[in-house]
Amino acid sequence: MSTFAVRSPVSGDVLSEHPVHGPEEVRDTVVRGRGAAAVWAGLGWAGRRDRLLAWKRALARRMDELAALVARETGKPEHDARAEVLLALVHLDWAARHARRVLRMRQVSSGLLSVHQRALLGYRPLGVIGVIGPWNYPVYTPMGSIGYALAAGNAVVFKPSELTPGVGEFLASSFGEAVPDCADLLQCVTGPGSTGQALALSGVDKVAFTGSPGTARKVAAACAGTLTPLLAECGGKDAVIVGADADLDAVAEAVVWGAMSNAGQTCAGVERVYAVASVHEELCGRVVRAARALSPGTPDGEYGPMTLPGQLGVVERHMKEALAGGARAPLGGPESVRGPYVHPVVLVDVPEDSPAMTEETFGPVVAVNRVADLDEAVARANASAYGLGAAVFTGSRAAGLRVARRLDSGAVSVNSVLGFAGVPSLPFGGTGESGFGRIHGAEGLRAFAAARSVTVRRFAPAVDLTSFATPREKAAKAVELGRRLHARF
Ligand code: NDP
Repeated sequence: MSTFAVRSPVSGDVLSEHPVHGPEEVRDTVVRGRGAAAVWAGLGWAGRRDRLLAWKRALARRMDELAALVARETGKPEHDARAEVLLALVHLDWAARHARRVLRMRQVSSGLLSVHQRALLGYRPLGVIGVIGPWNYPVYTPMGSIGYALAAGNAVVFKPSELTPGVGEFLASSFGEAVPDCADLLQCVTGPGSTGQALALSGVDKVAFTGSPGTARKVAAACAGTLTPLLAECGGKDAVIVGADADLDAVAEAVVWGAMSNAGQTCAGVERVYAVASVHEELCGRVVRAARALSPGTPDGEYGPMTLPGQLGVVERHMKEALAGGARAPLGGPESVRGPYVHPVVLVDVPEDSPAMTEETFGPVVAVNRVADLDEAVARANASAYGLGAAVFTGSRAAGLRVARRLDSGAVSVNSVLGFAGVPSLPFGGTGESGFGRIHGAEGLRAFAAARSVTVRRFAPAVDLTSFATPREKAAKAVELGRRLHARF
């Protein structure tokens, strides 16, 4: 089997070698997963919960080891990687403890027409889930699918990004060690995009993909051939709306963190800010002051390098086109791109049709534009092809909530950024170029399960509409009675 090398995004040195799994190996892995899923099903809700919590405790004990691996492969500082691991643990814990409540069979109303039936709704696992993950949060992001899919009773075959295969292997091997009686339930296949393609074509029962919209289209095309369902978590171009009465220090702190942490390589990171005219200038000054205090570096910077070398060119192009279109840069500019790092950049008055406002920049760059009022801010925020996250800062929480209801995004934070990330009961996902489907929360469990509707006949109905033995006239009268009721109420 051929192998590929992982290089440090900081030094370029080879860190490790990993196998390139082809279609045959991927199919074999899925078959092993199917066997493990049958064993997993036999363990029942309590057995699965106990084992998932055992895995969670093992990951918590090994947090430093996992965070160091994340830091080596992505270049991000270890303190960031530790926080990422903690978020993943919070979600795994929630999924393990809530799967039974969300998915077990329960009685639902059967309605007047079927009052003789007892109606039950339950969820069954889909089987084997193929999870294809990105490199920017190589633990937190795929675990939003992996943890919930396992808790819902499935097996998982995970294909991590070729930049972070060690993290994928760590997750799978740590599961096998913590849950030895079901070791093949979580397996990892490694390789480039072609391995992901093989997984989408392998006969898995659903694909949970996180990555760019362009790759999502390729995965959707592969899934179409076999009608394999797909959940797609793609990028974002998240906006922050700032009202006249917002606490500007709090806004500046949140905006700079939302835009610059993880070197801006965050799907729901802050890329656009719309501030009402009366506070725009003051806010820009505070954002610049807060951003200027940051410096990228390894291992002690506030954030690390661009993990994907090719992204340096994208970030530079967005800045150059914005400036050519009339934007100003009160902090940084194209010269801030000093590979592998990008120093903080603040852009102001960026034309709305510039790539810095329409495409995902995925770098430590934030555009702060002026709007007349909150209505214009909402219109501009909603004008994006993406619809992942958003935030609104206002003096009054009620006013913030009113704006939140008008935003076309999957998640909105009032008076903070990325507020949803640490709340496992809240579903996460977007619309448009940001993808479709939801991970996390009850929806995230149901995403990896199929509804099973059961009726149990309790007694013979007065008029049985599902029998040829019912006289036609009697059935017609019952139907007419039903029609009249529906016409009236
Ligand atoms: P990519 O789209 O490049 O890759 C995502 C995954 O798909 C990788 O594992 C990649 O493998 C794999 N892949 C590549 N080609 C194919 C193919 N033809 N068939 C199947 N799989 C394939 O995204 P990135 O890894 O660059 O991640 C960054 C993107 O992810 C950003 O757009 C970001 O916004 C988004 N993202 C979204 C999140 C969300 O929850 N909405 C969260 C985190 C990131 P390989 O790396 O080996 O090429």
